[in-house]
Amino acid sequence: MQLVINNLSKTYPNGVHALKEVNLTIPNGMFGLLGPNGAGKSSLMRTLATLQEADSGSVFLDEMNVLEDKEGVRKILGYLPQEFGLYPKVSAETLLTHIAYLKGITSHREREETVKALLHKVNLYDVRKKNLGTFSGGMKQRFGIAQALIGNPKLIIVDEPTAGLDPTERNRFHNLLSEIGENTIVILSTHIVEDVSHLCNNMAIICKGEVLITGHPTQIIDAM
Ligand code: ADP
Ligand code: ADP
Repeated sequence: MQLVINNLSKTYPNGVHALKEVNLTIPNGMFGLLGPNGAGKSSLMRTLATLQEADSGSVFLDEMNVLEDKEGVRKILGYLPQEFGLYPKVSAETLLTHIAYLKGITSHREREETVKALLHKVNLYDVRKKNLGTFSGGMKQRFGIAQALIGNPKLIIVDEPTAGLDPTERNRFHNLLSEIGENTIVILSTHIVEDVSHLCNNMAIICKGEVLITGHPTQIIDAM
């Protein structure tokens, strides 16, 4: 698979040019989008997740016209937003089950099995009955990955996942991401160089809405 972004631009009503003719080709594997705060990472991630409209440009995932086919995209998308709205008084198991239902897993049994497997995968099975409000930052992010993985998405978008995590939790999070299959595109947006150098096969640096450079982390980061 290949995600091809062509001349994507976005200006907010307040006049901020968040994306300026962004061009990127993203193959299967882990792709790091590195840039400082305010670079336009979240704007790009929200646009790719079809949660926000661009002013111009196109995005294709193989044959799929991403910006014109929201329904199609949602079926193959896993999205972990920067601010993952958690319901503090709901248990991990209950919310995950509910999200699985919303994502179209209508068979009760299949839903149960999916949720159980994901809770084990992110190491939250033992706390599945606990309310999300009691979770630490790292537990919340692991829960976020679990919900993003429901339904075996082909395109996974992860926005600034490790900000505020301690090193142990960051490692756990990295390990989870690196277990995602090879036939998947994972886009990881971050301002942390190590997230990209440890995990990604390809990367781009974005600043003030413009892509400055793309390539392999070994070439780009070593030269920094
Ligand atoms: P970050 O800059 O840390 O990536 P976001 O851009 O995701 O944070 O901002 C969080 C929320 O605030 C988003 O819904 C975003 O649309 C909104 N937001 C961010 N900057 C502005 C701004 N200058 N004016 C209005 N809303 C903004
Ligand atoms: P990053 O994720 O790299 O921090 P963002 O995409 O959140 O960058 O923001 C890029 C620029 O767009 C920033 O100047 C931010 O303040 C602005 N911005 C983001 N969301 C909004 C919004 N909803 N309305 C107005 N400005 C926004």
